[in-house]
Formats: sequence, structure tokens, C-alpha cells
Amino acid sequence: MELMKEEDFSIWYHKVLEEAGILDMRYPIKGMLIYRRWGLFIIREMQRFLEKRLEDVGHEPCLFPVLISEEVLEKETDHIAGFEEQVFWVTHAGKNLLERKLALRPTSETPMYESFSLWIRSHTDLPLKVHQSVSVYRYETKHTRPLIRGREFLWNEGHAAHATARGAAENVEEIKGIYRELITDFLCIPALIDRRPEWDKFPGAVETYAFDTLMPDGKTLQIGTAHNLGQNFSRVFNIQFETADGGKEYAYQSSYGPSFGRLLAALIGIHGDAKGLVLPPLVAPVQVVIVPIIFKKTEGEVAQILEYVRKVKDRLSSMGLRVEIDASDKRPGDKYYFWEMKGVPLRMEVGPRDLAAGKVVYARRDTGEKKELLFDELSQVSGIFEDIAASLRRKAEEKMNACQFAVKGYPEFESALGKGFVSAGWCGGKACADKIEETASILSVMDEPGVCVVCGKPGKAIRAAKTY
Ligand SMILES: [Zn+2]
Repeated sequence: MELMKEEDFSIWYHKVLEEAGILDMRYPIKGMLIYRRWGLFIIREMQRFLEKRLEDVGHEPCLFPVLISEEVLEKETDHIAGFEEQVFWVTHAGKNLLERKLALRPTSETPMYESFSLWIRSHTDLPLKVHQSVSVYRYETKHTRPLIRGREFLWNEGHAAHATARGAAENVEEIKGIYRELITDFLCIPALIDRRPEWDKFPGAVETYAFDTLMPDGKTLQIGTAHNLGQNFSRVFNIQFETADGGKEYAYQSSYGPSFGRLLAALIGIHGDAKGLVLPPLVAPVQVVIVPIIFKKTEGEVAQILEYVRKVKDRLSSMGLRVEIDASDKRPGDKYYFWEMKGVPLRMEVGPRDLAAGKVVYARRDTGEKKELLFDELSQVSGIFEDIAASLRRKAEEKMNACQFAVKGYPEFESALGKGFVSAGWCGGKACADKIEETASILSVMDEPGVCVVCGKPGKAIRAAKTY
């Protein structure tokens, strides 16, 4: 491939998606994708990890229908105002116009909370926490980008109801911790948590927190959000419960979701290199590829090497690893190129000398480093995997940290945009926010003081960036 992702990220990204078998982007509806084996496998690993962690802390899995009635979707006015331009409507059944049109879910607060009002009667029913991994549909009018901005995307959405405001706030904190595990521990992706400004909150929320990471082109990507909904939805959907002393109260709620597609986009963009994908071992569809190196091609040698290669594979498989043997007719160099492009973390080469010495040669995808292991040392592969993950995480963190700039005046602010996260100040005035948002997005307004980059008046510190 030998295409520098820093020079033209967009070209590199599309090429990797296609060549590595992540997606097929030729589906004839704009903004909709075909997920192929390599991409879907990684998404399913993320999903498995996240669902387990959510269920560990008391979420119940559920699955709601994809269609939402107009009446239910439009109950919460701020909420529907935030989504109305993006909703896909089903208006016909065969040739007949439906009496009430039906929406394809853009997110599931409204249908779920309609059910919460039936499920929640007493404080003993709380907290109630559910989650589902589904596709959602939003008619994006901006330029679509595979996995980043589409009209159908895969996510997990969690929804909770609590008896107290504190319960809801604590749940949001717990979710931030779980998302941090998924994003940084599991996928090795660094991210900052930003509290979104008033105008950029989730429609209907009291507070919105977002995980923002940095893509190689200097733009930030929002990969997950968690919202404290207060009692906004519970009042509209009448989610009331009987308190311990016999009174009535509205539940306090929160909702949250990471986009699996955006996480995959970040994973590809942040870890990949000129040769293609670089995958953290835990999510790689194939973790070790074994390439037999056969010189003489005498029948005896071929059989002996293949037998040894199978023994190596069996040993690794018995450790729970995903292993593939590439015994195709391609030349070894072509095989290396192919599996490097696919991001397989470890390649093992086995030739006649390795067979004789009872060893294998391995090459790390992330560093290119080559070393040997004796057959009896194959159990060390788990340790090598941990080392690869730690190294990917560290490299990505160093890179993101090097792309954080603190600026004072407007010219300095403007020239830092597009290079990463920019810390600055904002007075709180609308005109100055509008000026800033002509070229950037304000990701977060902080509690610390700051001097406005536009007018120079005192205000609060902000974090801004060019965003996807
Ligand atoms: Zn100002």
C-alpha cells in the first residue's frame, strides 16, 4: 500500500476500508454500508466487551422495535426539534398511505420511556437500567463518510432511571468509566471527556458528556456520549414512582451510547500506518498468521513443515488464540504484504531451519521487530500481545498529547485549528461563540477562568477543535 496516512488521510482511509475487507461502500443507498468480515468481527468484539461490562453493573439487555409511532416520537418537544430534520418516515404500507406515519428510530429515548412508565411503579423498581445494540437511522444532510457520518449506524444505547438526582449523576460517572475501559483499555484509543456547551447538548438533556479523540488529519471525532436527562423525559412520559414514604416522584434519567462505527473509524485511523491496518491483538479477527517457508519443495520437506506448522497452530489455538495458516501458492513476500495490510498483530515464519531447531521466527506488525521463540516458549505470545497493546496505547497517547495547544489571541487560535485540541478562552457572549464556531467547534466550556480569544474580556476556559 505504502500510502502515507498523514499526507492524505481521506484517500488512505478509503483505501484501507476497501483493501482490508472492512466494508463494501458500493451499496446503492447513500450513507449505508455493507460491513464485511473484518469490520464486523471487530465491531462484535467491542460489542461483546461493552455489553458484558454494562450487564456487570446491572443493565438488562432488551430489544425494541425499529419503528416508532409519530405520537410517541414527538412527545418531548426539545427532543423532536433536535431530530426532526433527520428522521426517516415510513408513510406507506404497500400502495396505501398509513393513517399515522412511523419513524425509523433515530435513537430510542421516546419508545423506551413510554415503556418505562409502564414498568416503573415503586422506588423498589429503581434503578432500572437497560441496553440494546442496534442500528439507528438519521438522514444526515452533511457530507457522509463511511463509519463516521452515515444514515444507518450501529451502536449500543443504554438507558437508566433512578430514584434520585444523585443516582442518575453517579450512573453517568460509572458509564464514563466503562466507556473509558472500552475506548482506552480495550481499543487502545486515547480520548478526552468534554462537557458539551448548552447549545450542543443532546436534545432534551440537562448535561452531555462526550468522548473526543483526535484523527490523523487534526480533526477531532466524537466517539461516545453520556447524557444526564434529569426529569425532562420522565415528566413528559409520566415515569412516576411511589417513594418509600408513600409520596410520588418523577424518576431521574440518563442515556448513553458509543457509536461502534466511529470507534472502528478511530481504531483504523489512529493505529494504522503506511502498510495498512494495525490492530490491537484483542480485537484482531486473526491474531497470528503462520507462513510456511518452503525452499526445496520436495514432498518430504513440504509435509514435514506443514505438520510442524499445524502443531504450532494447535498449540496457539489451545491458548484461545485466533490463528490462520497461509499455505497458499503466493510468494512469501506477497503473503507478508497481504497480512500486514490486514493488520494481523503477529506473523510467524516457519522454514526448514526452524523446524530442525524446534522454533519459529515471529514479526510484530506494530514495530516490524523480528525475534525467535522456541516451540516450548509459545505461551509467551500472550505477553507479547499485552506488550503490543500497551505500545499502541502509549504511541497514540503521546501523539494526541503532542497535539494539544494553549493559545491566547485570535490569530494564534485560528492557526492552531486543524492541528488538534486547542485550549483557549471565551467570554460567554453569543457573538464571540458564533465567531469561534465559524471555523471550529467549542467542545467544552470549563469551570476555570479564561480570556476570550475574540474580544479579550474575561470568561471561561474552553476547548475547541475542528471536528468531523
Ligand atoms: Zn468574547
